[in-house]
Order: sequence, then C-alpha cells, then structure tokens
Amino acid sequence: MPPTELIVPAEVLATYEAVIGLEVHVQLGTKTKIYCGCPTGFGAPPNTNVCPVCLGMPGALPVLNRGVVEYAVKAGLALNCVIREESIFARKNYFYPDLPKGYQISQYDRPVAEHGFIDIIAGEQHKRIGVTRAHLEDDAGKSIHDGYRDSDLYTYVDLNRTGTPLIEIVSEPDLRTSDEAYAYLTELKQLMQFIGVSECDMEKGQLRCDANVSVRKRGAEKFGTKAEVKNVNSFRFVKLALDYEILRQIALIESGGTVVQETRLYDPGTGETYSMRSKEAAHDYRYFPEPDLLPLRISGAWLDELKSSMPELPPAKRQRFIEQYGVREYDAQVLTLTRAMSDYFETAAGISGDARTAANWVMGDLAGALKSEGREITESPITAEKLGELVALIGKGEISGKLAKEIFPKMWATGDSAPAIMDREGLRQISDTSALDAIIDEVLAKNTAQVEQYKGGKTTVIGFLVGQVMKASRGQANPQIVNDLLKKKLS
Ligand code: ADP
Ligand code: ZN
Ligand code: MG
Repeated sequence: MPPTELIVPAEVLATYEAVIGLEVHVQLGTKTKIYCGCPTGFGAPPNTNVCPVCLGMPGALPVLNRGVVEYAVKAGLALNCVIREESIFARKNYFYPDLPKGYQISQYDRPVAEHGFIDIIAGEQHKRIGVTRAHLEDDAGKSIHDGYRDSDLYTYVDLNRTGTPLIEIVSEPDLRTSDEAYAYLTELKQLMQFIGVSECDMEKGQLRCDANVSVRKRGAEKFGTKAEVKNVNSFRFVKLALDYEILRQIALIESGGTVVQETRLYDPGTGETYSMRSKEAAHDYRYFPEPDLLPLRISGAWLDELKSSMPELPPAKRQRFIEQYGVREYDAQVLTLTRAMSDYFETAAGISGDARTAANWVMGDLAGALKSEGREITESPITAEKLGELVALIGKGEISGKLAKEIFPKMWATGDSAPAIMDREGLRQISDTSALDAIIDEVLAKNTAQVEQYKGGKTTVIGFLVGQVMKASRGQANPQIVNDLLKKKLS
C-alpha cells in the first residue's frame, strides 16, 4: 500500500505515462585492474590490492589493460553498438574520500561503443530499446561506515576496488514501465554473462543500476523533468523503486507541485525513495581529455578477430531453439537463461531423440531439484548425457513416464545412469505381453464387478482396471500395452 498522500485515482494514473532510461555499470571480469596490474579479486583484506597508480599517487601513470578493451568491445558488440575506431579517455573530476586521485578516468564524447540496442520481451510484447553508449571507466574505492564509537563517527576507506574496470551502459529514454526496465536489465545481464565479460553478481557489486525516470501526460511529446534513483542493488528493487517514483511524481504534479531534477535513493525497508542531492549543485565534472593516456585505437583486424570470437547470443539462440527443437517461445527463453543451461539442454536434447520432452525435464524436474538444493546447473549430479538417456528410454518405450519420475530422484542422489539404476533395482518396464497376461488375468479375476460394468457398456471403467494392473506390477507395466491387452481380453 502506498502512503495516503500518494493515492491517485486509477483513472487519473491512466492519463500519465512514465519515461525511463537506465545507466548500468558492469564490472568487467579481467584478473587485473584497468590502468594497473593490481588484482581485482573480491574479499581481499582492505587496502592490499593497491599500487601507486590505483592509489592515485601524484606522478603515477596509468597503463591501459588490453584485456579490458577486448571485453568492452565484446560487450559493445553484444549490445549491437558501433565500435569506434578511435575513442578518447576523459577525466571526470570530483572529490570523494574513496577517490584519492580526485577524478575518474572515464570516456566522454567519444566512447568505445555507441548507437546500439537491446531487444526485450516484456510480457508478450517485443520491444527494441536504444543503447546510447557504452564507455569504459575505473571504479572508485569503498567507504565503510562503521557508526559511532565513544561519540565519534567511524568511516573506513578500502581502496582495493579503485581501478576495477567498469563499462557504463546508458540506455535511451525508451522504457515506459517498470516491467520493461526489469526485462531490459535481465536481458543486459544475460548478454554480459553469455559473452563471459562479467558474472554480473550484484551482491559483489558487479552490476549496479541508476534509474532515471520522469512522467508526462499520455500523448505529450515533451519529456517531464527526471529524477535519478541511484545505486539500487537488485532488479526487483529497481522495479519497486520505479513504481514508487512514478507514483510520487504523478501525485506531486496532481497536487499542483513540480518535479525537480535531483538524485534520489531507494530505501528497501520502507519501499520509498528520498532526495539525496539536487542535480544543479552536483554536476560540473569539468571533463577534459585524459593527458596520461593515448587515444584508444581499435584496428579493423582486431575488431574482426573479436567479432569472430563472439558466441551465439541469446536472441539468436532462442530463435534457433524454436525452429530447430520446436519448443515454445517461453521455453526458449527459459532454456537460454544461461549459457550453461542452453548447452545442457542441447546435449540432452541431442541424445534424447525428443527435444520437447527433454526441454520439459530440464525446465521441470531438473530445474526444481537444482533450485531446492540451491545448485547451479553446472553442479548438477545428473549430467546432460544421462538426462538425455533417461528421456530416450521413455521414447523407446522401455520405461513409462511414471517410472522415469521414480528413477530421476535416484539418479539425482547417486549420479548413476538410468539403465544402471534400473538394473540394480529391477525397475525395467514390463512390455513383454506374456508377463503382463498373467497380471491382467489376476486383476480381472479380482474385479468382476468392473468387468461386468465394462461389458455392460461403461467402457470408461477401463481406466480403473489399467490402474489396478499398474499397481499390481509396481508401476512397471507399460500402460499403453496394458490398455491394448485389456481391451482385447474384455471384448
Ligand atoms: P544526465 O546529463 O543527467 O546524466 P543524460 O541525458 O546523460 O542525463 O541521460 C542519463 C540517462 O537518463 C539516460 O539513460 C537517459 O535515457 C535518461 N533520461 C534522459 N532524459 C530523461 C527523462 N526526461 N526522463 C527519463 N529518463 C531520461
Ligand atoms: Zn594498482
Ligand atoms: Mg549523463
């Protein structure tokens, strides 16, 4: 429930539209920093992964990390950007206790990548969202606020993170709802993970999002004044922060006020955003070309090499899964969530001989088991080959779907193959008609009332009789063959 001052009648809300643009920082996963050779590893003791360059000592000179450039170009390609032949590093000057050199080395009017897009699917809607630019920069350090002790306020500065390579991806103001923003972030993260430039672990600060949002009357051409909600640390919170902020701005306008351009923060505890600083005061970075770094030139040959190293990306993969394996669009989306998931599915599908059934097993039983144990698909005790084999056995009629459901948890627990488990536990499906004959005769003898009903025209009772045979066979009878045999015997 929003606070009472934010209650706006639905019919009034419907006359407004939100405009959203996202700025996303993604940490590029190189082993060393962007302008020095210090390690980027997470969790080292404070101020141990540092050197004069990333400490911002006067006179220390930055050296650009080639690996970072490769990752940035790949990220740009995944975002359908034009890669600039020449891009320029620029100083972005500001003071912060955890930024000892007093500036970031970023890029300004000539970023490494620009003019791209991300295609999103929000609900059923397909939409193309412009990516204005993607530029390189170094991260700042981290201030750790430790609270009061003996009436003194303690804050520590850890500079391990200074110089960590970032790419900032700026979207056009093309998003219109918080759901679209969520879908955009999901897609962006997936792209970065697929090309292996970042794990995008938000808990480690590897992906951070600033959300810009304004509202306007539907049909109006001019954008409203935007507020920027900074550093929201999960996609769900971005969505909730946007929902709150959209409502706040509409309520403000409806009550005769005006939205001011400012930076706001989101408090997950209250679900509200609050003002951090007004924008006018904050924004003169005095950008100028970085004198300590040469222009970055990316040759055609290098670009071609990087292009050819790009893996198949999720949008193309989804399309191919739909065409090649006949899965539904939603399933294709789920199956391409991660590269590991899509590889797993393709291996299992290839062996199974029935890709759609394999897809159902991957998204159903396997995903469920992984989730309940908090495991990644790469940690599955059942390999893709073994799951494919299980599905193949169903297809060949050697086991029923029901029996497969019993075998699956045993595979999960032991890592053994389906045939190994079937042999060990005598779980083979009985398709041999002479073996079934005996069981069926016994069931018919025991259930004369139902047999009479069937003969009297109530043929649906066959379901009950099949069930009895299945039970008598401990689930191992082939239900289709039982059905056929029963019909023959009863007619
Ligand atoms: P700033 O100079 O304040 O950083 P930019 O023009 O660089 O603003 O845009 C930053 C982000 O804000 C971009 O993602 C852009 O799409 C978005 N944006 C710009 N104007 C608006 C607006 N009126 N409403 C919502 N988002 C906006
Ligand atoms: Zn360093
Ligand atoms: Mg800007």
